[in-house]
Amino acid sequence: MALETIRDQPRAVGLLRRALDTGRVAHAYAFVGPAGSGRMTTARAFAQVLLCETGVGCNRCRACALVTSAQHPDLYVIVPTPPERNPKGAPLIRIDAIREFERQASLRPALGGRRVLLLDDADRMTDDTPQAFLKFLEEPPPGTVLILVLPGVRDVPATVISRCQIVRFQARDAGRAASVVAEALALLEAARSEGAAGLFRRTDRMDRDRAEALVDGCWLLCRDVLLARAGAPAALLHHAERAGDLAAEGARWTDSGLLAVIEACRLAREALINNVTPRLTVETVIGRLLTHAA
Ligand SMILES: [Zn+2]
Repeated sequence: MALETIRDQPRAVGLLRRALDTGRVAHAYAFVGPAGSGRMTTARAFAQVLLCETGVGCNRCRACALVTSAQHPDLYVIVPTPPERNPKGAPLIRIDAIREFERQASLRPALGGRRVLLLDDADRMTDDTPQAFLKFLEEPPPGTVLILVLPGVRDVPATVISRCQIVRFQARDAGRAASVVAEALALLEAARSEGAAGLFRRTDRMDRDRAEALVDGCWLLCRDVLLARAGAPAALLHHAERAGDLAAEGARWTDSGLLAVIEACRLAREALINNVTPRLTVETVIGRLLTHAA
């Protein structure tokens, strides 16, 4: 459950979820992506699932409570720190921090069978630190899972990254795009099953932010469906996870219908900037969608 609260990184969460479901959790992960993309939040949620007494991140057991209050004795978080004698010096991850962790890791985990080490800003290791690390990666103590959080795969030596399973995080905007496309798809599916009445019920209490997200979602959805119709590879889609659904949509649309909805979205975006009521604007777009969707 803890992992499922991360909504805008479906690819990363899916990969971790599969590892948990198949019992194939790696010894070392590298969470790679830009700052602000939710790498640490996801790492903490993943650690919670790994340490949870029921194995799901239930938010109810003692282990979950300890993880959320940052007090779990088997969850180590190492962050860059300034040099001991110079608090204003550059914060770095120092070899001593790794050595101390290794000392602890040689003991049994305090509570369960697992131990998680989280290294935030792992690209800021001192030059000698990866060496200490390497020994640990070559012979990981049983039950220990290491997560390195860093911006790019080239930010740590190849000898380190090659021993990690890489989990990629998209910039938040890309994650937002996937989630608004998912919302637009849901809207379209509702239109088909419930008809216009159900659809317009969903636009109740529409504020500007939600209206913008919905219009963007319809816009990006049409773009993805156009690409899917042209046979573009899934990686080019905003919501690559739903490539199958988007291809199925492709068969139900015409190019001119998609372009007409895209034009309606463009006008709706302008209307929102010019303070037309959000609800009216969204309903215009939905009307267009209903006209053209088979
Ligand atoms: Zn739990």
